[in-house]
Amino acid sequence: MTNCIFCKIASKQIPSKTVYEDDDLIAFHDINPAAPVHVLIVPKQHVPSLADCDESHAALLSKMMLLAPKIAEEQGCGYKAVDGGTGSGGFKTLFNTGPDGGQEVYHLHLHVIGGPRPWRGQR
Ligand code: ADP
Repeated sequence: MTNCIFCKIASKQIPSKTVYEDDDLIAFHDINPAAPVHVLIVPKQHVPSLADCDESHAALLSKMMLLAPKIAEEQGCGYKAVDGGTGSGGFKTLFNTGPDGGQEVYHLHLHVIGGPRPWRGQR
């Protein structure tokens, strides 16, 4: 999409603080972070929202979800499980969908938000 900011980031027309990239995905620091760690995982293919996904997007969505804990770990907010307890660390994963879901950029993205609380807005 010519006028899509995340398409422009994916094609390097707009710079980003990239933390991960492969043929299908790019992940970069959010420009207005809500927490000490705030990374967006974005497909290079233009998909407007989660509600526009169908079975043909299953592998892409799976890849996005499975990347989230790896990014969190690399960014210092991975979840450390402990036997018999809740463990420590951890992060939030979030898809905002549509106006009432708080979506502002209509190119599918997965927020990975973490770090020591409190966070702005605690979302
Ligand atoms: P919301 O702003 O409610 O989180 P979205 O879920 O659509 O809405 O998230 C879009 C995110 O993209 C926002 O967190 C915003 O800060 C981020 N963003 C917008 N432009 C850029 C950019 N050029 N580089 C990095 N992040 C960006």
